[in-house]
Amino acid sequence: MSRTPIIAANWKMNMGPKEAGAFLSAFKEENLCECKGVEKVVVPPFVTIPAVAEALNGCSCLGIGAQDVSDHDNGAFTGEISTAMLLEIGCQYVVVGHSERRQYHGETNAYINKKIKKALAAGLVPIYCIGETLEQREAGKLEEILRSQVEEGLQGLTAEQVAGLVIAYEPVWAIGTGKTASAADAQAAHAFIRSVVEKAFGADAAAAVRIQYGGSVKPANAAELMACPDIDGALVGGAALKADSFAAIIRAAGV
Ligand code: PEP
Repeated sequence: MSRTPIIAANWKMNMGPKEAGAFLSAFKEENLCECKGVEKVVVPPFVTIPAVAEALNGCSCLGIGAQDVSDHDNGAFTGEISTAMLLEIGCQYVVVGHSERRQYHGETNAYINKKIKKALAAGLVPIYCIGETLEQREAGKLEEILRSQVEEGLQGLTAEQVAGLVIAYEPVWAIGTGKTASAADAQAAHAFIRSVVEKAFGADAAAAVRIQYGGSVKPANAAELMACPDIDGALVGGAALKADSFAAIIRAAGV
């Protein structure tokens, strides 16, 4: 099965509305609507999303995602943002379980599972982040960690739901560090993740689910990573803060 790669820019806590406007002006100059065969997504901070939606002015060649979502629908949850609110401001995607949410906000697989279910029920595409720490990798626990993140995070989902979501494999030691997993190591981890999906949800879901790589992806290493058979795009942090480098990564995944 051929899967359309997806390149997403995780801006993290960078880019207020004004800065995003300047980014999008520069990004439009790159003429990436012409770059086919790749889904392109920008994931701004919540407060920047309306400005991005306005600047895109209905152009559907760049999708919009949020960096997190509540596991509740509404009510007394100070600081939280619901799926309905994300839809109202123009989101189609939502990142869940980023390692920074796991590390600094104590998010667990079970909690993230609730968010994934909320996102799917609302029609948002979850981008579910998983990945091991250096300590876990060095202790030989890579597969154990990835297996539990896939099984627990996706627990209770149907095969169709799994087929339609995106998994982002992001080794924690590679995020924002300049250290990228080698293409061979990344491919091996992606193939393993796909095998876990196959065991839990069947061959069709495993063949359809897109698994992005994340962790210091930049124009210089994108093509090699994107050429791996089980790597279906990238979740990009630092290199997606500049329109030209984000564009170069998109081109590396396009046809
Ligand atoms: C990320 O934040 O998901 C990420 C992969 O960041 P970076 O590309 O900066 O490593």
